[in-house]
Amino acid sequence: MIRKLLRRAINVLRRAPSPPGSAPAAIARAQHGIRRETISTGARRTCETLQQGGFKAYVVGGAVRDLIAGIVPKDFDIATDATPDQVRSLFRRSRIIGRRFQIVHVMQGGETLEVSTFRAAHDADTQKDEHGRVLRDNVWGSMAEDAARRDFTINALYYDPVAETVLDYHHGVADLKHKTLRMIGEPRLRYREDPVRMLRAVRLSAKLGLSIDPAARTPIREMAVLMENVPAARVFDEMLKLLFSGHAVDAVHRLRDEGLHHGLLPLLDVILEQPMGEKFVMLALSGTDERIRQGKTTSPGFLFATLLWHEVLADWEARKTRGELPIPALFEAMDGVLSQQTDTLAITRRISGDIKDIWALQPRFDKRTGKSTLRLLEQARFRAGYDFLLLRAQSGEVPMELADWWARFQEADIDQRMAMLLPEKSGTKKRRRGGRGRSAKSGESGSNSTEPAA
Ligand code: ATP
Ligand code: MG
Repeated sequence: MIRKLLRRAINVLRRAPSPPGSAPAAIARAQHGIRRETISTGARRTCETLQQGGFKAYVVGGAVRDLIAGIVPKDFDIATDATPDQVRSLFRRSRIIGRRFQIVHVMQGGETLEVSTFRAAHDADTQKDEHGRVLRDNVWGSMAEDAARRDFTINALYYDPVAETVLDYHHGVADLKHKTLRMIGEPRLRYREDPVRMLRAVRLSAKLGLSIDPAARTPIREMAVLMENVPAARVFDEMLKLLFSGHAVDAVHRLRDEGLHHGLLPLLDVILEQPMGEKFVMLALSGTDERIRQGKTTSPGFLFATLLWHEVLADWEARKTRGELPIPALFEAMDGVLSQQTDTLAITRRISGDIKDIWALQPRFDKRTGKSTLRLLEQARFRAGYDFLLLRAQSGEVPMELADWWARFQEADIDQRMAMLLPEKSGTKKRRRGGRGRSAKSGESGSNSTEPAA
């Protein structure tokens, strides 16, 4: 019993943030394993110039963590004790950005490096909202304070590319080796300061294959509701990172396990609860993961088109049941779903244009007769539209035979394509020829009058 209590007390002490000013562990190359050559030339040069100018300068945050974990970093951020003006004076090609908290963009060759001055954690005077969310944090501080304000121990690592050491204030290297995601400081407090940290916990644990330390994991379920107070644009940015992490399937499963998926992406929860919707969304996410891992391009428009499709489908079906014409009904459903999302999701105008293009192409794939079928191939968004159709087929929404036909049709030469076109449906012909009144009207709406998919 006593031993248990002691162990618990030791654990609590271990998790407490090091007091500002305490010395970090200096970890040598043999232990951290980062090879200097894996740091971009621009980042290395920037650190060297700052150090030659008499300042401290380190590669920091995600890049150090990823390199130790054997992942190629997306970008290299630099932290320094030089003020933005001092940084600016050392680099001809640099500019100060940001009003609230200034950072410097340093251009080196084709690279842009983000150089931040060490920042302090919040104190009693820090402005917070009524839930404890920090509204402003723009105080410069010491390096130890800069480490303490970061979210997880594995994110508070500072790599010096000149000395080739990693400075580690919170046992981050050990946590990374033990595959543990541990919060710096008291998790409940840190989530209240910034609820997005819950989302980051899930995203980073999926990306790096870590388990979230119970102290940081347990409070998520009860605190998830705090996400509601976070500005939509910030949630959206973090969700984009999650969805394009290359580990989206795992991350979405983890979000669900932690009870965090509700209200994050509005309707994601609803979609995941519909069997066919879930299959479709998961197929889309695993396709995106695969493309990212292969280094292929991905587009937010395509992914959001998939995430929201089953909402569109449900509304489209309802409208058709009420007797609306299929194509106008589809456009109404599209606009309805998108406007609901853009309110809360900060989907930009350009992304929503892409999403609509992809959706609007879908009924056109049903028509496999006549010249408009050939013209569809020339549409700018044809490839994305086809990839989307394939997902619909794989999830069981439309027959696979339809997607197969379009796969063959794309590959075929012009003669083969002409031969592949289906004869005008006898029903359609009959209606056109023999039908009066109503059928003539349905003919008028041209290619848009094709039967939409069920
Ligand atoms: P990624 O590899 O996806 O970019 P990252 O950890 O680098 O992950 P960034 O958003 O680029 O994420 O943040 C850079 C660093 O800033 C983090 O490593 C962390 O130290 C710190 N940081 C970011 N967001 C927060 C936050 N909400 N609270 C505290 N520290 C944060
Ligand atoms: Mg980063």
